[in-house]
Amino acid sequence: MTRHTADDDERGESNGTGAADRTTSDVDGNGPAERPATDGGVESATGGSDSMELDPDAYDPVDVFPGGDLDLREGADSCYKCTSCDTSCPVAEVDDEFPGPKFQGPEQWRLKRKDDHDIDESIMSCSNCMRCDDACPSSVPLSQMHNEARGQFVEEQMEKLSVEYVRNRILANYRTSARLASMFPKTASFAMNFGPVRWAMEKTMGIPKERDFPEFATETFREWWKARGGAQVQNPDKRVAYFHGCYSNYNTPEVGKAMVRVYEHFGYEVMVPPQGCSGTPMFANGMLKDARRHAETNVENLVEAIGEGADVIASCTSCSMSLRQEYPELFDIHGIEDLSEHTFEALEYLRIHEDLDGELAGSSLADEQSFAYHAPCHARNQGLDRQAVETFRDVDGVNMEDVGDSCSGISGTYGWKEEKYEKSMAIGEEMFEHMEAAEGDVGMTECPTCAMQMEHGTGYEIKHPLQLLEETVVA
Ligand code: SF4
Ligand code: SF4
Repeated sequence: MTRHTADDDERGESNGTGAADRTTSDVDGNGPAERPATDGGVESATGGSDSMELDPDAYDPVDVFPGGDLDLREGADSCYKCTSCDTSCPVAEVDDEFPGPKFQGPEQWRLKRKDDHDIDESIMSCSNCMRCDDACPSSVPLSQMHNEARGQFVEEQMEKLSVEYVRNRILANYRTSARLASMFPKTASFAMNFGPVRWAMEKTMGIPKERDFPEFATETFREWWKARGGAQVQNPDKRVAYFHGCYSNYNTPEVGKAMVRVYEHFGYEVMVPPQGCSGTPMFANGMLKDARRHAETNVENLVEAIGEGADVIASCTSCSMSLRQEYPELFDIHGIEDLSEHTFEALEYLRIHEDLDGELAGSSLADEQSFAYHAPCHARNQGLDRQAVETFRDVDGVNMEDVGDSCSGISGTYGWKEEKYEKSMAIGEEMFEHMEAAEGDVGMTECPTCAMQMEHGTGYEIKHPLQLLEETVVA
């Protein structure tokens, strides 16, 4: 029996039916981080535990964040105050009042451990870009500490009737708003960008009027998938379960369609299981109970697809980051490690399993095109920051220019807050300048919110690498 538990999982069913087991190789050094789950300060609803056990002889566990079942002392004690994390933090660079990741992580953890200190409210200024994780030479689990602290701050210290809490909850639950808007996509797209509406949204909710709301697709990815009759290729030996996330479903179904066509070109059977939000915007806003609810749905349905022989692929690098790293760090749900080990970013998976270089060697783009490529911070954290450049460098008619390693500044919902808007644009300035200096006037990135910021700062059209792959190998 197929378990479909997505609260509203609309239109589209898993097309998988019994399959041979298939093993996957992991990416060198890019596998899920092996950190103990701290359960995000929220109770386990499923009770199962696949998380690592700490060595009880090493020290007595100290439960700093109530509700979590393991502590982070090992990570906190590994910090030797080198400040590499602080110098890599894009928020600290533009916001003098932000104390930086070292304070948010190990220092706050120690303060909390000493006595029942409140969490400093500056934790809400961390954008969860996770660049500090990458910068730390001592493997301190900074983003895990930040997510824990933010979750506790929101749960225990934030006023639930405040405008900030309500605004953040709406932003964190984008899937709910997008689902409603997609019932009247043209009206919603018009209304959300209508001047007086935007003025009112800024005044009442603190959503900056400068931002352009993304258009809602007149046909969602799942509607398209259902209308085409699901998978066109049946292949029990090559199966992938697509985690499309909210944005590819409601706003840019062309990315999901490109993924399907490319994967079917390579002989894969694509499955589209019921699914919720990956939780990325919820982690960044400290809404860990909401994130857990969606994680339970995702783990259940994606693990079922894994059982049918599929690996899980995501076209958004923040979604793959969430499923492979943040889930096992924060939640203790039966099957979560299995999902983490079987999750890949979509282009990454093809590069591992197919001869993409060989396939692309003789290909060319009909109309020559130059791209300004930005690697999202979450792609960087998974070791994927050069993949688009490497994939397309030998394709005739394609010129791919990497615009550097700066953060785009939007960080999901961070740049959608009035009080953060100017900082978000200041962080993105370096990327905008490099894009403008690059030869091309089309941007490329794997992250939908980085794409928003790139378009907002330069006016360029932005594409996903899967769309270019479709143009080069399928068309
Ligand atoms: S996650 Fe990003 S914004 Fe937050 S502390 Fe780390 S580097 Fe700074
Ligand atoms: S980079 Fe790591 S070791 Fe250095 S100060 Fe930050 S947390 Fe501590």
